[in-house]
Amino acid sequence: MSYERDNIAKLQAYVPGEQPQTGTVIKLNTNEHPDLPHQAVIDTLRTFDPELLRRYPSPTARPFRELAAKVHGVTPEQVIATNGGDELLRLFLTVFTTPGGKGIGVSDPTYSLYEVLAGIQDVPVTRVPRLDDWSIPNDFAGKLNDAGVNLAFIVNPHAPTGRLESVDTIRKIASEFNGVLVIDEAYTNFAEHDCLELVREGSGLDNLILLRTLSKGYSLAGLRFGYGIASNPDLIAAMDKARDSYNTDALAQALACAAIGAHEEVSASWQKIKAERQRLTDALVQRGWSVLPSQTNFILATAPAGIDHAVRIYQTLKENGIFVRYFNHPRLLDKLRITIGSPQQNDALIAALDNMN
Ligand SMILES: *Cc1c(COP(=O)(O)O)cnc(C)c1O
Repeated sequence: MSYERDNIAKLQAYVPGEQPQTGTVIKLNTNEHPDLPHQAVIDTLRTFDPELLRRYPSPTARPFRELAAKVHGVTPEQVIATNGGDELLRLFLTVFTTPGGKGIGVSDPTYSLYEVLAGIQDVPVTRVPRLDDWSIPNDFAGKLNDAGVNLAFIVNPHAPTGRLESVDTIRKIASEFNGVLVIDEAYTNFAEHDCLELVREGSGLDNLILLRTLSKGYSLAGLRFGYGIASNPDLIAAMDKARDSYNTDALAQALACAAIGAHEEVSASWQKIKAERQRLTDALVQRGWSVLPSQTNFILATAPAGIDHAVRIYQTLKENGIFVRYFNHPRLLDKLRITIGSPQQNDALIAALDNMN
């Protein structure tokens, strides 16, 4: 006797990157930041008042939202704080798709969690393949409108390729699309530009939401703190009705405020990662790999000798305690996604590759 709802029984759960909890491994598989969080975050943690644990936190993370609004040039009513970006993604499904309806649209390949969340909500996924250069086809919005989809996701800069679409491209898609468009900016800290201007006053768009997370750019994957910035406060108000009443805890709110308050200093670490990204790219290219130009803290690298080679390298690296990501997607079988680590970690990766030959 199964007590599960049918769609949950059928569901393939999300497979996170491996998270070995012991031993000294080099983790280049889940796009974590190689540095510790900023000193302001560490100081806030050390001096945190336990009285704040006795009381309930701000239900809407008001102090964080005010700070984030100031940093990004929007109003607090345009911001929602969540328990990681992943909670925000789940909220989008809950609030903007209808049971039995047409579901969500994505540009394929994409973050595999979207599909799992659609499965939980029991709605279908319309996939529009990216073109050969991994750009988004011109008729993306048109195809989704034809399919009757009213929630669409674009990761920008894109995972797993690292490609960045222009603000004009995103503006055009948002204005053509009949539903809510989510631009997942999980990796925006490592990119040349973001889409903030499209959610600021005067953009003329009422259907756009940006997703941000502190997991990647702020070295806080363990904290679980993300947020959304909407062009239209009504979208935030709708999501506010559907989230857990205290979805972010007091400690997370305090540390998130410290982190975003230090954004200017933290940005120096983004520059270092970009420099390492170039160095690792050059080293791989010298060794016969082809590497897509990346606007994120990872690179998608094609193994010199094809699919078997990519699998073999992935496995050998793992045996050597170096974890990278391999995707079982028809267009990614000869590729590895490698997070940009510290200079020492990147050197260890290169040395391990050289040792294989
Ligand atoms: C990391 C990531 C997120 C959010 O991650 P959280 O750790 O839950 O904040 C969202 N989208 C993409 C594409 C990501 O890579």
